[in-house]
Amino acid sequence: MKILIVEDEASIAEVVSAYAKREGYETVCASDGLSALEIFFHDDIDLVILDIMLPKLNGEEVCRRIREKSSVPVIMLTAKSSESDVVSGLDSGANDYVSKPFSPRVLMARIRAQLRPRETRDNIASGVFADGKIEIDPERVEIRKDGVPVPVTKSEFLIFSTLVSRPIRTWSREEIIRTAFGDDYDGFDRTIDTYIKNLRKKLAEPGHENGWIKTIYGFGYRFDDEK
Ligand code: CA
Repeated sequence: MKILIVEDEASIAEVVSAYAKREGYETVCASDGLSALEIFFHDDIDLVILDIMLPKLNGEEVCRRIREKSSVPVIMLTAKSSESDVVSGLDSGANDYVSKPFSPRVLMARIRAQLRPRETRDNIASGVFADGKIEIDPERVEIRKDGVPVPVTKSEFLIFSTLVSRPIRTWSREEIIRTAFGDDYDGFDRTIDTYIKNLRKKLAEPGHENGWIKTIYGFGYRFDDEK
């Protein structure tokens, strides 16, 4: 999963990035509001850590613009800590608020809380599949192949675990979107193809070059656990 860290103080960005990497997340950093939006709208970001006092565009405005298009979790990170600042941060659409100076461990706990699937729903597979080769762990939002974690984004995780949840079922793109993302999704049907392509790249292996995902032409996809 990938976290966008928006912070103009390089030392803070470095500390947050180091802790996040240790937790197994990918990180990408932006040091001003405009480049943060640029990155956000061109990358598959799972969560945003957002400073408020930023060059070019402040954090509240950045958050507002993200919210016009996306429900990705945003955690505000700021030196401001008066009640009215907290309220205006949350009003701009932030999911959580951590004031500086902060404990990186507390911040990591807040990140985990935001990224955990809201409920372990029926459509999220959980456990071991394909004779133990594939393991799906909703608690950690992790796919493991032969016991080794495969770095996937939250969207990729939701799509793959949706397919795995009903192994013999073929899913149309629209069904995948509805089941995996519910109302959170605002892309096009065909965006699913891009996610599938990425998943295949990450999961492919000899004998399963398709990354355990079978294309059913003219209809959609299904989990391919045939030997
Ligand atoms: Ca700042």
